[in-house]
Amino acid sequence: MFFLKKLFSSKKMVTRIAPSPTGLFHVGTARSALFNYLVAKKYGGEFIVRIEDTDRERSKPEYEKDILDGMEWLGLSWDALYRQSERTDIYTKYLKKLIRSGHAYISKEESKTKPGETVEVVRLKNPGEDVTFTDQIRGEITFNTAELGDFVIAKSLTEPLYHLAVVVDDFEMGVTDVIRGEDHVSNTPRQILIQRALGIKQPKYAHIPLILASDRSKLSKRKGATSITEYRKLGYLPEALVNYLALLGWNPGTEKEVYTLDELVCDFSLEQVQKGGAIFDTQKLNWFNKEHVRGLPHEKLLSLIESALPKRVKELPQYSKERLDKASKVFIERVESLSELTELAEAGEFDYFFDTPKMEAKLSWKDDPIEKSTGNLSGVLERIDVVPENTFTASSVKEAVWDFAGEQGRGSVLWPMRVALSGKDKSPDPFELSEILGKDETSKRLRDAYENRL
Ligand code: GLU
Repeated sequence: MFFLKKLFSSKKMVTRIAPSPTGLFHVGTARSALFNYLVAKKYGGEFIVRIEDTDRERSKPEYEKDILDGMEWLGLSWDALYRQSERTDIYTKYLKKLIRSGHAYISKEESKTKPGETVEVVRLKNPGEDVTFTDQIRGEITFNTAELGDFVIAKSLTEPLYHLAVVVDDFEMGVTDVIRGEDHVSNTPRQILIQRALGIKQPKYAHIPLILASDRSKLSKRKGATSITEYRKLGYLPEALVNYLALLGWNPGTEKEVYTLDELVCDFSLEQVQKGGAIFDTQKLNWFNKEHVRGLPHEKLLSLIESALPKRVKELPQYSKERLDKASKVFIERVESLSELTELAEAGEFDYFFDTPKMEAKLSWKDDPIEKSTGNLSGVLERIDVVPENTFTASSVKEAVWDFAGEQGRGSVLWPMRVALSGKDKSPDPFELSEILGKDETSKRLRDAYENRL
């Protein structure tokens, strides 16, 4: 008996993201999608995408594509996809039902957009009662709905407005939990009034805090990227964005910050979502990005780096997969994102890894005379010559020259060595560079620098 009761009373959890395709996939929408996805997956439920394209003028197929591509890129797979524009008959059926039961009526009124013309809209007969609902994040919320009057729910029997379409769809699709941005709180009482008029069950609501710019104002284009596509183009990893978006408003209550999507499914809970606005902090996103880049399997990382490098760099005379592999660690330490890698590589910042360096820095350390510097380079050459090629690592090179550098003065030896290898006054240390370049190229560059200055 108990089992049967349980079987009939436990309804499968269904959540949804309902984006309007009127702009690029906004980070706020992405975060709502993520929260809905996490909750559905956590409880073995279903996650639906519903494209809310009833506003025919502002909805564009390219935005729908942008949203769906972005969802896929983030790894937020959906169990079903609907488009409101394909569901007109269903809304008409519900509108007629409301009219038949006396809960709505057709009202002839002057058009707002075309003065002088009469239009027939459908209005809900609003009893004007107080509406109370329990929000999973914000607690009990009561609205007085009298001032809403008999609000319009459709422009005609075939042109439903947002509130009606949402209520009908959430019901028809079996949505159990509506998790959406706080900006929708004030829409909820209207939607509840429509549910009551239709005599249908109310889903659970959770209104999540908005994402704010650093000055606590609304996130806007002027203050940086606002769409997933932009972050994607900037070279962020989807894993990093997912991780960062999850923590925008959700506090796991532990020290753990770096999460994979699967780990989020396990740990996420709406109870730990805060009420206050969540500030979008690009520095923090960059930090997550670095963490996730570090965690990538080496082969994947390498192919991402390779695709981020401009063609020009890949055509440099010493470019090889092997050299790239060795240099990859340095690249990752230097940059916040792959697009920064592209930018720096484009500017020639990494050319010396794959080409004879251009001498942009002075070979001598401080006031050292050039003879001293070249003499030290010759000393270095002698010492690394005995290091076998197959053990030519940063540590064995260091070991070979360390005492000599100590005797001559570290700067006086290591500075010209580094400049000879990179041509720059800022670069990785000469031991690391030696390992990346390999024995032959290291010796050749040291010799070149030594000879050119004799
Ligand atoms: N279509 C609405 C929007 O893009 C979302 C509606 C809802 O989540 O109920 O903001």
